[in-house]
Amino acid sequence: MTFEVTILGSSSATPVYNRNPTAQLLNCNEKFYLIDCGEGTQQQLIKFGLKASKIDFVLISHLHGDHYFGLIGLLSSMHLNGRIKPIHIFAPEALKEILDIQFKHSDTKLRYELIYHFINPKKSEIILENSDVVIQTIILNHRIPCTGFKFTEKKRLRKVVVERLEAAGVPLEYYAMLKRGLDLTLPNGEVLLNVDYTTDSATPKTYAYCSDTLMDERYFNSIRNCDTLYHEATFLHEMIDRANETHHTTALQAAEIASLVQAKKLLLGHFSSRYKTLGPILDEAKTLFEASELAVEGHTYQI
Ligand SMILES: [Zn+2]
Ligand SMILES: [Zn+2]
Repeated sequence: MTFEVTILGSSSATPVYNRNPTAQLLNCNEKFYLIDCGEGTQQQLIKFGLKASKIDFVLISHLHGDHYFGLIGLLSSMHLNGRIKPIHIFAPEALKEILDIQFKHSDTKLRYELIYHFINPKKSEIILENSDVVIQTIILNHRIPCTGFKFTEKKRLRKVVVERLEAAGVPLEYYAMLKRGLDLTLPNGEVLLNVDYTTDSATPKTYAYCSDTLMDERYFNSIRNCDTLYHEATFLHEMIDRANETHHTTALQAAEIASLVQAKKLLLGHFSSRYKTLGPILDEAKTLFEASELAVEGHTYQI
């Protein structure tokens, strides 16, 4: 099953040095989830050959502009391009008011439905569950209410070993039972043990998205043992005072968090506009957590 994330924007606050404000596109089994939608997200989708029409879910972490200023444009273009499929928006409640006033004054009546799911910023909750994935909020500590998102793949069915089943003469109609983990009793009374004819599916993976936040141990349990942790690393640690003041994290802190929660991989992002090159951010994180990478726009990372 496909489970990967493409970075569309990695900048904090403003677009700078060819970096765009935050946005990511998560592909889970060919269903597309847009995580945040900073200014320029549409252009980034076009640039990287990704189809906006495939997005059915939008998740907005908080209402600082660098995380949603691209949304009205994206939704309007979907309308102009003839979209009729509804789109689900998971966001703080006030986003509806912001979008509504823009639609009202441009006299825009969307051809498709916006289905809002308002996020409770105080309590971690499952906000979506389907056959592919479970999405749970992560309560972050920022200047305004802010939630991250944890995506956990659903466990797949067991895989049948076709050669063994063919050799034993088992008809196709029994395969579905085997995939669900059941033993088989054939019409002649013979019992086939499931373990002899199937293999387990891959262990489900998790992706945790944490932007923007102070380092705060209260959310660590929500992201423990995740496979890929995307964590904001707005500043180098020499700027810790500024990070605390603006409720952001340093690269060193992001690495410490990845290490404490035993993440397998750390993706660093949400870089301050003061950094023209990002090598020092990566180097700093790697002093504590070797499996660190920079979130590079246009790159797709397997979870
Ligand atoms: Zn931000
Ligand atoms: Zn923010």
